[in-house]
Amino acid sequence: MNAPRRFVDLHTHSTASDGADTPAEVVRLADRLRLAAVALTDHDTTAGLAEARAAARDLPALRFVAGVEVSAAFSPGTLHVLGLGIDESSAELQDMAARFRAARQERNPKIIARLQALGVPVDMDDVLAAAGGGGDRPGRIISRVHVAEAIVRAGFAADRKDAFTRYVGAGAAAYVPKERMEAGEIIAAIHAAAGAAVMAHPTQLQLDGLTELERLTRRLMDVGLDGIEVYHGDHTNEQTRQYLDLACRLGLLITGGSDYHGAGKPDVSLGRPVVPASVLREPWASCWL
Ligand code: AMP
Ligand code: MN
Ligand code: MN
Ligand code: MN
Repeated sequence: MNAPRRFVDLHTHSTASDGADTPAEVVRLADRLRLAAVALTDHDTTAGLAEARAAARDLPALRFVAGVEVSAAFSPGTLHVLGLGIDESSAELQDMAARFRAARQERNPKIIARLQALGVPVDMDDVLAAAGGGGDRPGRIISRVHVAEAIVRAGFAADRKDAFTRYVGAGAAAYVPKERMEAGEIIAAIHAAAGAAVMAHPTQLQLDGLTELERLTRRLMDVGLDGIEVYHGDHTNEQTRQYLDLACRLGLLITGGSDYHGAGKPDVSLGRPVVPASVLREPWASCWL
């Protein structure tokens, strides 16, 4: 009955950002799937952590890891930094979250104005309605995902993906770039909150080969990077092996997770790909569990 739990998921989203499940639902689903640990890593906000932690208190076989995912300034692709094992009461971390919240409060009306200029009848109330469940959770973020959902509901796109392609995706007509901080600043804020700073889904960096990835990783280690997300649904088996090798050679922590978003990303399932619970037994992990 009570076989040891073998897998963890250290990358998930809830209604505090662009996930479809509430923080408590994510935690309870992780327990039903018999995961040994789950981290909630909402974009730019810690607003869901208290609820998730409270839900985890009733689930003694599941460890809860407080996390966050922050987008750093980078090209050509996407550089996301996960903070794992954070103390969300940290002033530095909350300053960073407040900065991103303020930036989104300027950005969202600009996106909506562009949509309206294109003849798409979507306003802020529609976007908040599309954000649904977590709409009244203080500190939750409103992102392009919610704008995309509002566009779908208005009948101007077939689904969210189509709404990104037609309107709000990078390079599309209603696209407005997001405020981003330098990776080093983000890592410093995560460290101030006693967390481990991890490079998320390296494949999304869109770098030209492993040499470039190693160069970037070393540069980020110079500003404090602690780990690399080796296991992620976007990685091929070959990439997973390459990132594992890189982490081992450079002495980086190894993490992994599903990047679960609930029904909004139906192809992604909590707990997939499997991530061995042994990542939590690395000596460093005891610092942030
Ligand atoms: P934002 O932080 O407001 O720029 O929104 C970014 C979020 O939009 C990401 O975290 C993804 O969840 C989602 N996203 C980005 N591109 C797409 C796409 N092409 N289709 C669906 N969702 C997307
Ligand atoms: Mn997302
Ligand atoms: Mn990401
Ligand atoms: Mn994510």
